[in-house]
Amino acid sequence: MFERVALVHYHEIGLKGRNRGTFERKLKDNIAFSLGDLAPQGVERVASRLVVPLASKSAEQALELISRIPGVASVADAYVTSRDPAEMERAATQAVLRAAPDASTFAVKARRSSTDYSESGHEMNVRIGAAVRAATGMAVDLGHPDVTCSIEVVQGAVYVYARRIESPGGLPVGTSGRVVALLSAGIDSPVAAWRMIRRGAVAIALHFSGRPQTDARSEEYARDICRVLERTGGLARLYVAPFGELQREISLAAPPDLRVLLYRRLMLRVAEKIAAVEGAKALVTGESLGQVASQTLDNIAAVDAVAPVPVLRPLICNDKLEIMAEARAIGTYELSTQPHTDCCTLFMPRNPATHATIEQVEAGEAGLDIDRMVDAALAGLSWTTFACASYRPPAQWREG
Ligand code: ATP
Ligand code: MG
Repeated sequence: MFERVALVHYHEIGLKGRNRGTFERKLKDNIAFSLGDLAPQGVERVASRLVVPLASKSAEQALELISRIPGVASVADAYVTSRDPAEMERAATQAVLRAAPDASTFAVKARRSSTDYSESGHEMNVRIGAAVRAATGMAVDLGHPDVTCSIEVVQGAVYVYARRIESPGGLPVGTSGRVVALLSAGIDSPVAAWRMIRRGAVAIALHFSGRPQTDARSEEYARDICRVLERTGGLARLYVAPFGELQREISLAAPPDLRVLLYRRLMLRVAEKIAAVEGAKALVTGESLGQVASQTLDNIAAVDAVAPVPVLRPLICNDKLEIMAEARAIGTYELSTQPHTDCCTLFMPRNPATHATIEQVEAGEAGLDIDRMVDAALAGLSWTTFACASYRPPAQWREG
């Protein structure tokens, strides 16, 4: 039997010039943190790859976990062999049979990253291909093989694999700072948060609950969504702010058609305060241009006017169907489509303004004591902390 490892490839972080070492170390630490006891021998860096020795009983679980980690382009279920030609051939045969026992065609793709290995890639392909054909009875097909066996000669070792899991790519979490992600229990905002995590940001989620005007279901769903995002290693905390009373106040004092925009402005003000405490440099929402009345360019401008930090909208140019497909891929779709009352639908007017101006929303807020409302939301905050290697809670909100 050969030693089995997860062979992790990354590309983008390999391009980072002088920062490369930092990015590689971060990725290595994130993988080790995510695997915990599943990687008792740790994670090793080997010539632009990371190698994680696997125990056979937990190998599948470890591969699955690694395949969700930002910065990982792909992870292969690989055998390690020496440079002994017969060993390479046996490992290739085993890898092919394990990955695709029913395949009828295969190809071998060998590469050498080490200059002190004399056999060329082509020579390895021919030699190992002949051995696999003889051992399995499969035919070689270089155009459309059922299974491809890769051989990588790297420093002292050879990695052999026929199964590779495509992974998110992007950057290791912790290399891009923190953001506060406004997280409803809907479909879009979890995808927006995920996209920021994939770019290396630590996401602090913030959910506004319609309580006491609604039940706590949206909070539970938001928490469940966070548990799914937690597996990427990039979701650090969920803050829940009670919002029902504040919405009632807005609905009593302001023109009905501006309600949703005033809710959003208040949400951003609260989010910005949390961002300041958390050291987060931007806010994130799941808005997409024109998707609903509040998401026109005019209304986005009217809402953003209160935010002293950038408000990022990773989904701004995506169609709903694309967002839904991505929600399915990251595993939040089912949770996001459970019935619940979002606080934004509370006191919903029949005809929301689609092209509000900043002057209009400011006039609409004139009768409200905004500072007190922000303080009330902050005073009611509760939170849940998740497993994230790059997160330390702020001193003033440490427990929990
Ligand atoms: P989503 O699918 O994310 O709920 P949506 O298409 O329903 O988005 P809106 O309800 O207009 O659109 O919300 C726009 C954005 O405002 C959301 O993507 C989210 O970032 C933020 N948001 C809305 N409701 C809440 C809430 N209850 N808590 C936190 N953020 C919210
Ligand atoms: Mg929504």
